[in-house]
Amino acid sequence: MTSIQTELAIVAAGPAGLAAAITAAERDIEVVVFEKASVAGGTANMGMGPLGVESRLQKELLIGITKEEAFQIMMEHTHWNVDARLVREYLWKSGETIDWLEDMGVTFDRPTKYYPGADETWHVVKPEDGGIPGPRAASAMTKVMYQQAKKLGVQFHFETPVKSLIKDDSGRITGFKAEAANGEIYEVEAKAVLVACGGFGNNPEMIREYTGHVDGKDMYGFRIPGIDGDGLKMVWNAGGGKSHMEMERILGNEIPNVGCFTSKLIFSQASALIINRQGYRIINEEEIKNGAVAANSISRQYKRDAFQIIDDSIIKHFKRNGPDFPSTVFRSDFTKLFYDEIDDMIEQYPEAVFKADTIEQLAEKLGINMDTLINTIEEYNEGCEKGYDDVMGKNRKYLHPLIGRTFYAQRISSSAYGSLGGVRTNHKLEVLTDEFETIPGLYAAGTDVCDLYAGTYCYRLGGNTMGFAINSGRIAADAAVDYIFDSIE
Ligand SMILES: Cc1cc2nc3c(=O)[nH]c(=O)nc-3n(C[C@H](O)[C@H](O)[C@H](O)COP(=O)(O)OP(=O)(O)OC[C@H]3O[C@@H](n4cnc5c(N)ncnc54)[C@H](O)[C@@H]3O)c2cc1C
Repeated sequence: MTSIQTELAIVAAGPAGLAAAITAAERDIEVVVFEKASVAGGTANMGMGPLGVESRLQKELLIGITKEEAFQIMMEHTHWNVDARLVREYLWKSGETIDWLEDMGVTFDRPTKYYPGADETWHVVKPEDGGIPGPRAASAMTKVMYQQAKKLGVQFHFETPVKSLIKDDSGRITGFKAEAANGEIYEVEAKAVLVACGGFGNNPEMIREYTGHVDGKDMYGFRIPGIDGDGLKMVWNAGGGKSHMEMERILGNEIPNVGCFTSKLIFSQASALIINRQGYRIINEEEIKNGAVAANSISRQYKRDAFQIIDDSIIKHFKRNGPDFPSTVFRSDFTKLFYDEIDDMIEQYPEAVFKADTIEQLAEKLGINMDTLINTIEEYNEGCEKGYDDVMGKNRKYLHPLIGRTFYAQRISSSAYGSLGGVRTNHKLEVLTDEFETIPGLYAAGTDVCDLYAGTYCYRLGGNTMGFAINSGRIAADAAVDYIFDSIE
């Protein structure tokens, strides 16, 4: 067994753990980080960038959203059903955190938004080669953060998952136990411990128990390896309380986001008709632009899914006018790609993609009552002809009747970037018991504590979860360092 003594011991090197390590090291605290994976960066290596409000970059570009406005947006979005003080601390710090990352060497593209009408808070990271930012761009940021932490003297132990926290007789957390891939056991003694293991997005049992979703049936999440709920379990086992848990839900199905992604996305345009298994419309299809909101509507349905229906005439419209929601994936002749791919998609995913020559045949394939589907489509088509959608109020520019020749349908359900919440904390990120008492020496950050959206991920303020991870890491580290200094005095 290897024994290590340090001042702050951090569990995990995702963006929350890295931000915490740098923050503490900047205040001359000795920091040791134990990480389960072989590299730093966690889930953020898959993403594009964090939220910031009132960053230097936004001010230079005259992007006007203020902290107060962002706070108001979050509080209206959540009906105040979250820790308002924590939201405040996070948003107030977020702009300065972007500046802090830039000063470290991270470069950002122009802040952007997730969908038309949202706010430009998403600070997408520029890739290392200076190319166009895309998926995984944020790995350039975590690389800089890791190098900065190393420069400041932070010690890292990779492939060494932490197994349990150590608590002394007075109730203080004084370290943890970890076990390396080669079987080596570590016992780390620390003045404070900070946990940031990224939630339980890769743990189907916990997903089922705490969110009701069934992996592979009505939940097709990203399932990032290693994100197994370890942080939650170790904190709960040490007496930490539980907070509300949910999935960071967006739209998804069993078709992976590689391969036929463009064809999959052709269904997710405002012009498609969305119906449930009873054959009724359930949403203004324009709302599909905000995947978190649309996922709410769809996950309320029987079997937590719905069908998106398009036809050749709508595809022809896209060919002439482009998709309803432009995206970098719609390159060259994307409608030809659709026709090239669709039969393979049907063969590969027979429960998710369908094609039919008539509405009657479509009803049969989808298992929907024929008369109801015919009525719904007739009613919808009449609305399209009038240019007025009396059922859901869809904008007339997206009203294109379904007339054939061929009809195509995609089953749509839920996906998730990961989970949200689980560890109860206060706004300083001190871990609390279920009785709201602090556990001395124990702090948590990132997804493990991110109970910030009250059921619906706040897509309007893009970069929200990675933003929270980095900022909560910084806030938690500052609180832990204050505690360490107090305990020395
Ligand atoms: C495809 C994809 C794209 C995304 N894009 C964005 C985006 O652009 N903007 C945005 O805001 N959010 C995005 N997200 C979400 C964002 O990446 C996460 O919110 C963020 O990474 C959470 O940070 P974290 O530090 O809390 O946890 P994570 O980044 O998940 O890191 C957790 C770390 O804990 C480690 N760990 C787990 N158990 C242990 C253990 N027992 N001991 C030691 N280490 C352990 C893991 O190996 C991992 O390194 C995206 C997510 C996905 C899947």
